[in-house]
Amino acid sequence: MPDITDIADRHDAVCVIGAGASGLATIKNLREQGFDVDCYERETSVGGAWNWRHDRSPVYAGTQLISSRPLTEFPDFPMPDDWPDYPHHSQLLSYLERYSRHFALGEHIWFGTEVVAVTPVGDGRWDVTTQSTGGGGSSRIQRYSAVVVANGHNWSPKVVEHEGSDGFRGQVIHSSAYKDPAQLRGRKVLVVGAGNTGCDIAVEAAQQATTVWHSTRRGYWIAPKFVFGRPADQVNALMFKRRLPLRLRQWLYRQIVRITVGDATRFGLPAPDHHPYESHPIVNSQLVYYAGHGRILPVPDVARFDGASVELTDGRRVEPELVIMATGYLPRFEFLAPELLDQDADGRPDLHLHAFARRHPTLAVVGLVQADAGLLPLAHWQSVAVAKWLRLHATDPARAADVQRKESSRPLKTWTRRNVLPTSRHWFEVSHTSYLRVIDDLLTELEPAP
Ligand SMILES: Cc1cc2nc3c(=O)[nH]c(=O)nc-3n(C[C@H](O)[C@H](O)[C@H](O)COP(=O)(O)OP(=O)(O)OC[C@H]3O[C@@H](n4cnc5c(N)ncnc54)[C@H](O)[C@@H]3O)c2cc1C
Repeated sequence: MPDITDIADRHDAVCVIGAGASGLATIKNLREQGFDVDCYERETSVGGAWNWRHDRSPVYAGTQLISSRPLTEFPDFPMPDDWPDYPHHSQLLSYLERYSRHFALGEHIWFGTEVVAVTPVGDGRWDVTTQSTGGGGSSRIQRYSAVVVANGHNWSPKVVEHEGSDGFRGQVIHSSAYKDPAQLRGRKVLVVGAGNTGCDIAVEAAQQATTVWHSTRRGYWIAPKFVFGRPADQVNALMFKRRLPLRLRQWLYRQIVRITVGDATRFGLPAPDHHPYESHPIVNSQLVYYAGHGRILPVPDVARFDGASVELTDGRRVEPELVIMATGYLPRFEFLAPELLDQDADGRPDLHLHAFARRHPTLAVVGLVQADAGLLPLAHWQSVAVAKWLRLHATDPARAADVQRKESSRPLKTWTRRNVLPTSRHWFEVSHTSYLRVIDDLLTELEPAP
C-alpha cells in the first residue's frame, strides 16, 4: 500500500491511457468539456497501431486501409480530398500526427510512460501508477477523478497452440512480426487465418513466394474492395442507412458477391458456413484473383506440426519454410483488476456500449469496437459521449444516476451484433450505423438540463 504522501493528487483531471487514434480523440473531447487531461503513452510518439516505427505496431509495409476514407476520418477533421479511397498506412499516421498538432494535443501527453496499475480509491477516484519506459524506469502514482482507457486491441497476438510446433523445422511467426515482402521472397509459405490480415498477407505472398498455402478453418464471405465503382463499405453503409431489414441485406449481399466475385469455391476456396453479416467483413479483391491463378492454394485448418511438415485436417501434408499465423489479437488490460471491467475467464470485458464500466461510472474504454467501417469515427463519438457523461456526473450527479438507470435497461441487441460467429474476433462486433444511432440517443440524454 503506497504512503498517501507519495500520491500526487491531480484533483478533477482525467487520465487517458494511450495516444493512438482513440486516445487522441479522447484527449480532444475531454478538453472540449473543460477537463484537465494527462495522457500516458508508452511509446515515444502518437499514432498507436498506425505508427510503424513502434515495435508493437501490427502494420506491414504494404498495409492499405480496408475501410474507405470518408468512413475512416474523424468527423471534425477531414482527410485530404486528393487521397485515394483506401489510403496507405503511412498516410493514416501522418493524418493522426496532423490531428494531434492541429488540436495541440501533444502538451497533454507524457510519452515513454507506461501505465502499470490503475486502482480504485473508493470514492470514484483512481490511483494511476506509471513507469518510465526509458533507462531508469522511474515510477510514480497520481490520483485522478476518472480514467479513460484507449490502449487498443490490435497489439497483443492471439497465440494458437498446435501439437508438434516446438519441433517444427521451419520458421513460425505471428502476423505481427510480418513487416516486409522480403520475408516471403523465394520461400514456401503457409499463411494461417482468413481475417483481413491473413488474406492480405496471402496475396502479398502470392507475388513473392514460390508456393503459398492459405489455411482457413471455414469459408468467409469475401467482398471486393470496390462494388459498382464505389468502396464496398460505402455501399454497405447505404443499405444500413435505408434501414433495410437484415434478411434483405443478406440477400443483397449474396447477389453483390455473386455478380462481382462469383462462386469462389470454383477457385478452391471453402464455402461460407454462415450467412452474410454473421462474421466480420473480409474485403479483398485479389485473393480470388490469385487463387484463380493457382498462386494461392487454399487448404483447410492445421491439425499439427510434424518435423518439416504441417499436417492439415484433411490428412494432407505440406512442407512450408515459413508459417505466418494470422490468428488475430486479444485485448489486454493488465493494469486493471479483471472485475473492474467485468472481464470473463477468457478476458472479454462486459461494458455498456463496449465503453462504459458497468459498476464504475468514472472508468471507460474508448476504441474497443470492431465495425463494418473505420474505427476513428466510432472512437470520436464514443469519446464525446464519455466526456459528456463525466461532465454530467461531476456537475449533476442526480441526473447522471437517472441516465445510468435508463441506459442500463437499453437492450443489447440495439447496439451490438449478437448473431455473429462465437469467436474472439467477434467479441466487439458492431454495425457502425446502428451503433452511432445509439450513441446519438445517449448524447441527447447527456445534454445539460435547460
Ligand atoms: C493490419 C491492420 C489493419 C487495420 N486496418 C484498419 C482500417 O482499414 N480501418 C480502421 O479503421 N482500422 C483498422 N485497423 C484497426 C486499428 O487498430 C485502428 O484503426 C486504430 O489503430 C485503433 O486505435 P486505438 O487508439 O484504439 O489503438 P492503438 O492504435 O493500438 O493505440 C493504443 C495506444 O495505447 C498505447 N498503450 C497501450 N497500453 C498502454 C499502457 N499500459 N500505458 C501507456 N500506453 C499504452 C499503445 O502504445 C498505443 O500507442 C487495422 C488494424 C490492423 C492490425
